[in-house]
Amino acid sequence: MNDNLMLARNLRKDFPVKKTGSSLSRVLRAVDGASLDIRRGEILSLVGESGCGKSTFGRLLLNLIPPTSGEVIYDGRNLAEIPPKEMRAMRKKMQMIFQDPYSSLNPRMRVIDILAEPLVTHKAARNRREIEEITADLMNKVGMGSDALRRFPHEFSGGQRQRIGIARAIALKPELIVCDEPLSALDVSIRAQVINLLCELKKELSLTYLFISHDLSVVRYLSDRICVMYLGRIVEIGGASEVLTSPLHPYTKSLISSAPIPDPQARGRERIILSGEPPSPIDPPSGCVFRARCQYSESVCAEERPEMRGEGHTAACHLLYVNRLRKYPL
Ligand code: SF4
Repeated sequence: MNDNLMLARNLRKDFPVKKTGSSLSRVLRAVDGASLDIRRGEILSLVGESGCGKSTFGRLLLNLIPPTSGEVIYDGRNLAEIPPKEMRAMRKKMQMIFQDPYSSLNPRMRVIDILAEPLVTHKAARNRREIEEITADLMNKVGMGSDALRRFPHEFSGGQRQRIGIARAIALKPELIVCDEPLSALDVSIRAQVINLLCELKKELSLTYLFISHDLSVVRYLSDRICVMYLGRIVEIGGASEVLTSPLHPYTKSLISSAPIPDPQARGRERIILSGEPPSPIDPPSGCVFRARCQYSESVCAEERPEMRGEGHTAACHLLYVNRLRKYPL
C-alpha cells in the first residue's frame, strides 16, 4: 500500500479575467506551481489568508476543476490519465465537505434524498430499503436521529446542516476528504462539536483529511502536519508542532504570532504585524511573492523565485539558506 495517498506536482491554475469595458483578457493565477504530498491516515492542514488559493487548490486535488498545468497522483495513478468512466468510480474515494452548509444542500430535497443521491449515482444501494438502511446509519454516525431523514435542510440549525453535509461526504466510504473551511460558517459554540465529530469519523472510518482553514486555533488542535500557502504558492510545510513552535518562513511567523493562544504565559509574545495587503494574483511580483511585505527582503528576493528546501520541515525563502547565519533569526 502506498504511504502517500496523494501527490500534487507543480499544480497551476489560471483563470482568464476581463477588464470592465475592455475586450482584453488577463490571467489570474490562483494556484502557482504548488506541490505537496498527503500521507495516508493523516490530517494535513492547509492555511493562509482568504483569497490565497486554498479552496482552488482543494478542488484541483479532487479533479473538480482541471489544472492549467501540473499533475495529481492518487494512490500511484495520475488522475489526468484515468479514463472518464474509471474516474467516476475513483470519485467515490475522494469527497469534499463544503464551507457553507446552507448553500451546499439542495433546499427542495429531503435529507434522505440528499444522502441517496450519491448512493444511486454510484450504485452503492440496490433498492429503496437499502437506501433507508444506509442513510439511517449515516445519520447515526453523525450524531443525528433517523427522523431527520424526512425533513428539509431549512428545518435544521447550521451545525446540524454541516453534520448532514458530513454524512453525505462519508456516504460512499471515501479514503480522502477535503474539508474546505467546514467550521467558518458555524457559531463558535458548535465548532468544537463538529471538530470532535470529524476526528471520531476519521478514526472509525480510517479517513485522511486535507483540512483547509484560516483559523490557526483549530489547526493547532487537530493537525498532524501543516502546509502554509501565500498567493497561490506553498511557502512552508512540516510537522504541526515544528511549524507552530519553530516556523521557518517570515509569513508563517507572522501568521502564528497573530493567532490567539489560550495560554496566559504567551501573553507577552511579540506580534509580527504585516504591512500592506497581499499583491494581486493578476499582477504578482517577480521572485518571492511575499517580498513587498517581508522585513528581510533583499535583492535576490526580487530576482529569483525561492524553491522549497529542507528535509521534512521545508520552506521557500532565500535567506533561510543563503544568509541564515548572517541575519535571519531561526
Ligand atoms: S525570499 Fe526574501 S522576501 Fe521572500 S520571504 Fe524570504 S527573505 Fe522574505
